[in-house]
Amino acid sequence: MLLIVCIYARRVIKGGNIPYKPKKPCAYPGCPALTHERYCEAHQKVVDKQYNQFQRDKGSQAFYESAAWRRLRRIKLQANPLCEVCLKEKATTADHIIPMKQGGAALDIANLQGLCAACHGRKSIQEGSRFGKR
Ligand SMILES: [Zn+2]
Ligand SMILES: [Zn+2]
Repeated sequence: MLLIVCIYARRVIKGGNIPYKPKKPCAYPGCPALTHERYCEAHQKVVDKQYNQFQRDKGSQAFYESAAWRRLRRIKLQANPLCEVCLKEKATTADHIIPMKQGGAALDIANLQGLCAACHGRKSIQEGSRFGKR
């Protein structure tokens, strides 16, 4: 009996010598799965997918660099030099009132509002933009 206890104790000590890296909960909000990685296997897939989606957003970046958009933006900001939300700051962004993602017209001046940087940032956060959250 004593011998068994000794073996058991030695095993515990031996185990304690191995560098032990504890598993952490998956970084995905609300997921209790433990993992050595940042996300559990299932959520790693979800995150990868979101990343791909972000890559696809580069299409909209190309839009914002297009000549047609730049011209419309300039016209808009000349017509409405003041931020249309706070009516105090200088508008620096021509913002789509209905986002293009939600089917808003991309090149319709009626779908644009001039926003200052602060108001635009606030709107981005409200829309849950991943850029606004950073
Ligand atoms: Zn997870
Ligand atoms: Zn403003």
